Amino acid sequence: MSSTWLTVDLDDKRHVPRYSGHPTRSRHSQADIEKTGQDRKLSDQFRQGMRGFERWLRSHSHPVTMFVIADLFNSEDFSKWFQHLLEANPKRLTIGCHGLHHKSWSAWPEDRVGFTHALNEATLCLKKHAGVNFRPWFRAPGGYMAPWMSSVLAEQGYTVDSSINPSWLVRRKAGKGNSWNEVSDSLQRHGIVSRPWKTKMSLPVNGPALFLFPLSLLARRAWRQAPTPCDAGEIDELLINVQEDLTTLYWHLLDHARNKGKWMPPLR
Ligand SMILES: [Zn+2]
Repeated sequence: MSSTWLTVDLDDKRHVPRYSGHPTRSRHSQADIEKTGQDRKLSDQFRQGMRGFERWLRSHSHPVTMFVIADLFNSEDFSKWFQHLLEANPKRLTIGCHGLHHKSWSAWPEDRVGFTHALNEATLCLKKHAGVNFRPWFRAPGGYMAPWMSSVLAEQGYTVDSSINPSWLVRRKAGKGNSWNEVSDSLQRHGIVSRPWKTKMSLPVNGPALFLFPLSLLARRAWRQAPTPCDAGEIDELLINVQEDLTTLYWHLLDHARNKGKWMPPLR
């Protein structure tokens, strides 16, 4: 039976590619962000997103995987909120890795050493804060996932990757000259299960697509038609079993700041 895997990415405004981490799209460097102390602060929208997300969590009992950017823990407020959230939902929340600073790796030249260091630091940080809720599951920052990244993920014990948005519209995110098939093959070669994002008619329906007209119409329909979310007790087994037909949906914590904090994922 097919089911849905609910996943939310924890990006603050300073993490998105138009702000940082991308060679041509970004306005700010990581060094500037650290020098000005922005990495220790949360935006007002992010704080509203935290409250909205909690309200949404209380409205159902489905399990949710949060893909967390490790440098969020530079903020004491975030660390406290995260601890409280895990204590309140110990069985429902699993924590995956969404990078150290949210660098758009495949938009840059291949950098195995840099990615190895960043992934190692991020993994240690997430393990420390998430404890038993941590899972070796990866989502590439900004969906920028190149084939060369698979070996680094495997070396550091990652078992699941959920970075591929298998649409021609965003194929450039597989890195210069690469295709999504090549990313998928490299993951398979390294023994990592790929959980690509749901698409409809080969078009994106997750993340920003939920809000970009006319993709938003397609996206909302796809979400309403998605199978029932899986149960908390079965998520680990379902994810690593390649035979399992799992629909992967994803959105951002920041989305919960929309509509004055009342926005909720458009599920059935
Ligand atoms: Zn992200």
